[in-house]
Amino acid sequence: MSSKPALAVNNDTPDIFEEMESEVCSYARSFPTVFTRADGGYLYDQEDKKYLDFLAGAGTLNYGHNHPYLKGELLDYIARDGIAHGLDMHTEAKEAFLKAFDEIILSPRKMNYVVQFTGPTGTNAVEAALKLARNVKGRHNIISFTNGFHGVSVGAMAATGNSHHRNASGIPLTGTTFMPFDGYLGDGVDTTEYLDKVLSDPSSGVDHPAAVIVETVQGEGGLNVASAQWMRNLEKICHKHDMLLIVDDIQAGCGRTGSFFSFEEMGITPDIITLSKSLSGFGLPFAVTIFKPEYDMWKPGEHNGTFRGNNHAFVTATAALKHFWTNDQFINDVRCKGKVLEKMLSGIADQYPDDMLVAKGRGMMRGLSCADGKMASRIVEKAFSKGLVIETSGSEGQVVKCLCPLTLSEEELLEGLFILKSCVEEVLGKGKTREME
Ligand SMILES: *Cc1c(COP(=O)(O)O)cnc(C)c1O
Repeated sequence: MSSKPALAVNNDTPDIFEEMESEVCSYARSFPTVFTRADGGYLYDQEDKKYLDFLAGAGTLNYGHNHPYLKGELLDYIARDGIAHGLDMHTEAKEAFLKAFDEIILSPRKMNYVVQFTGPTGTNAVEAALKLARNVKGRHNIISFTNGFHGVSVGAMAATGNSHHRNASGIPLTGTTFMPFDGYLGDGVDTTEYLDKVLSDPSSGVDHPAAVIVETVQGEGGLNVASAQWMRNLEKICHKHDMLLIVDDIQAGCGRTGSFFSFEEMGITPDIITLSKSLSGFGLPFAVTIFKPEYDMWKPGEHNGTFRGNNHAFVTATAALKHFWTNDQFINDVRCKGKVLEKMLSGIADQYPDDMLVAKGRGMMRGLSCADGKMASRIVEKAFSKGLVIETSGSEGQVVKCLCPLTLSEEELLEGLFILKSCVEEVLGKGKTREME
C-alpha cells in the first residue's frame, strides 16, 4: 500500500488534500475521488458517480451506510438535546445500551461479563485488555500470533505482526512473544502443540505469559481462519498454563462471520473480549473491552479516556441491537450470503492454479489471495474504475478482501462479485473454465 500513486483528485480546484494532508493517509490512495454521501451499500462522489462499497469502513459498517432506523434514532436523540459527550458518567443512552447488550446479546448466550467503556477506537480496547491481563496475572509477557493485527498504539502494535506498522514505532516493541497462527506451518500441523511445548519447557526462553491475544479470522493479516478445534486447544493451553484468553473480535465480531461473536459456535469462553468497528452500527467511534467479573481488578480511574462516553454511538449501537439482533432473520440472511460469497469466490479462484488465486475466509469475511501484492492492487484499482470500492489485506497486501455490508441484498452482493470477477480476469487473464457465466 505504500507505493501507491499520488493523491490527484480534481484538476480544476487546488488539491487541498495533496497540499495539506499528511502523507500518512492510505485508503485515499486507492480511491482517488472526493466522496460526498452514502446510503446502504453505496458511496457517491462529487461527480455523483456511484460505487458499491465492499470496504465498508474496513468492517465498521456491517449494517451499511446511514441505516434509516439507526439514523432516525440518532436524529431524534440529537433533536431532544440528548447528552452527546458524557465522560464515563451514567446517562440514559448508556443505560439503554447496557440493558440491550445484556438482554439481547450476553444473557441469551449465557455470557457473564462486565463492560469497560474504553476510548473510542479498537486499539484503545486492546490496550485496556492487555493492561488488565498483565495486572491480573502480575506478568508482562503476552502471546500474540503471526499476522495478527491489534491496532497501532504502542502496546497493541507490539502484539501486531505487520512490519510496515511495527517499523514506524520508533521504540522497541516489547512484552509480546509471537507464535505461529493456525495453518502457519501448513495443513496438518497443529501449532498449539508448539505453544504448549515452549510454555512447558522452563528453558524455552519464552517468559510465562499473562495472556494470549488472538483473532478467530485475521482481518488485516489476510483472512487467515482459526479452526474451532485450534481455538479449543488454545483455550486448553491457557487454562493449563494459567493465562487469560483474549479474543480480539473487533473486526470479526458484530455478525461478520455469521454470529454476533465470531467464536460463538466454537465452544470456548474467552476471559476478555474486545469489540469496536461495527459496534456502534453507524460508523461512530465506539469500543468496549468485556471480561469475566472476577478479573475486574481495576481501581477507579486507573485506566481512563476523555471519549469513553460517546453517547451518540450508544444510541445507534442500541438501535442496531434492537433492529438486527432480536430475532434470527438478519443472522440467517448473513449466513446465506456468506455461502453465496464462498461459492462465488471459490468459483473465481478455481479457474486458476492455486499458486495464482485462492479463496479464503469465513462467513462474510472472505476474499481472494493472489500470488503477490502487485496483482491484488491491480485488481483493486480496476475495481475502483468499475465502481467497486474494495481493498487488500495480508502481509504483502496480497489478499483482495470483501467486507461488504452484511445488509446488502443478494443482487447487490452478486453485482459486486461479478465486477470483481471481471477485474480478476482482466488482470490474471481468462481462467481455464467458464462455468460461472
Ligand atoms: C481494526 C482493528 C483494530 C484496531 O482498531 P482501530 O479502531 O483502528 O484502532 C484492532 N484489532 C482488530 C482485529 C482490528 O481489525
